[in-house]
Amino acid sequence: MNSTNHSTYNPWHAAMQVFDSAADILELQDGVRKRAKFPERELTVNFPAKMRDGRIEMFTGYRVQHNTARGPAKGGIRYHPNVTIDEVRALASWMTWKCAVVGIPFGGGKGGVICNPKEMDDHELESMTRRFASELVNFIGPERDIPAPDVYTNPQVMAWIMDTYSMHRGYTVPGVVTGKPLSIGGSQGRNEATGRGCVHVIAEAAKHLKMKLARCAAVVQGFGNAGSIAAQLLASEHRTKIIAVNDSTGGVYNKKGLNLTALLKHKEKTGKVKGFSGAEAIDNEELLALPCDVLIPAALENAITAQNAAKIKARLIAEAANGPTTPEADQILHNNDVFLLPDILANAGGVTVSYFEWVQDNYSFFWKEKDVNKNLHEVMVKSWAEVLQTAQKRKVDMRRAAYVVAVARVAEAIRVRGIYP
Ligand code: NAD
Repeated sequence: MNSTNHSTYNPWHAAMQVFDSAADILELQDGVRKRAKFPERELTVNFPAKMRDGRIEMFTGYRVQHNTARGPAKGGIRYHPNVTIDEVRALASWMTWKCAVVGIPFGGGKGGVICNPKEMDDHELESMTRRFASELVNFIGPERDIPAPDVYTNPQVMAWIMDTYSMHRGYTVPGVVTGKPLSIGGSQGRNEATGRGCVHVIAEAAKHLKMKLARCAAVVQGFGNAGSIAAQLLASEHRTKIIAVNDSTGGVYNKKGLNLTALLKHKEKTGKVKGFSGAEAIDNEELLALPCDVLIPAALENAITAQNAAKIKARLIAEAANGPTTPEADQILHNNDVFLLPDILANAGGVTVSYFEWVQDNYSFFWKEKDVNKNLHEVMVKSWAEVLQTAQKRKVDMRRAAYVVAVARVAEAIRVRGIYP
């Protein structure tokens, strides 16, 4: 994401480094460590799709199942020009740890297609998605590997995948993906779940740090699903002032607080936050360095790096994005006493409600939104408490603590199943 070092940054190497630090703390036996560290299965497909003008375009897509010791693989599908197999490996491994840290019975998976969805119309996106889904038919499934939305994929994309998979099976299989539209077995509350879960742990952390959210200013990098919902809920449920947000085209800042309703309307109309009249323009590096209490990176990996970490003034960071902070930046933030809620905890609300969706699909019995939200709150608060307790007991930061909790659970599953004798 950071243009100065994107070419040298490798999210999979960063992911393995954090895993190793937790495995060291746990003194994991070598065989279990290796079993837990490396992906179980990786699929690369090169496939054609027909473009609007009749051209045949070739695309490359990936699906990685990192670890299934605790249950079927679970994780999103990303459409982005910078998707690489190492990024998908990293994202799949983060899903393994995320599902374990919140105690839901899934392993980790992730997928991606190298493409630029912003330059494709709906017809082209559907054609590409359906062909990719056909390639995945024997690799995914409700008991095997369950995709969900990620960056630049949405409920419509999930509906196309569900439909294509169902056509191949010969019957309707709602549980093959989560994050679907409600009309075909989606869950109430899923769209908001990542942002909502993130705000639940921010609220717990604020209590712990004796910060009053109603007197706090927050900054959000990445005004998409995760970031915009977190911003709205922080503002509406905790009266936090959201002073700056950005997206891939630029950012907006208003010291007195942004009018989010007006900003969302502007974004809906123009497709970007840039140009919003109730604020001044701000670039990405300035945004990250703004004086504020809470910073929510909610875009992509490699956002907080050794180059900009020291400039961050926030007291609390909640990683709504996956892997936004490099290991070097982590150390700088820790030295500067910034309290960081790690991605595998802070954005686990999405997969938690995806799990609820899968349960509802399997039972063909659907819950009320208030029940979904109540169960999500319970999971997030319990997981926060377990991670905090581990951090205090082991005298480690919150990321190490979350990994210690997660890796211990996966290692236990590996041991008890006898996968490694
Ligand atoms: P999204 O596509 O809805 O939004 C992504 C946003 O990030 C967009 O507004 C985009 O413009 C912005 N962005 C992209 N590049 C940027 C840049 N260089 N600077 C600033 N903004 C930039 O995607 P999402 O689902 O909200 O995912 C965002 C992050 O949250 C990803 O890391 C994803 O893996 C993670 N996440 C999402 C979910 C979920 O349920 N959607 C769950 C867990 C984690």
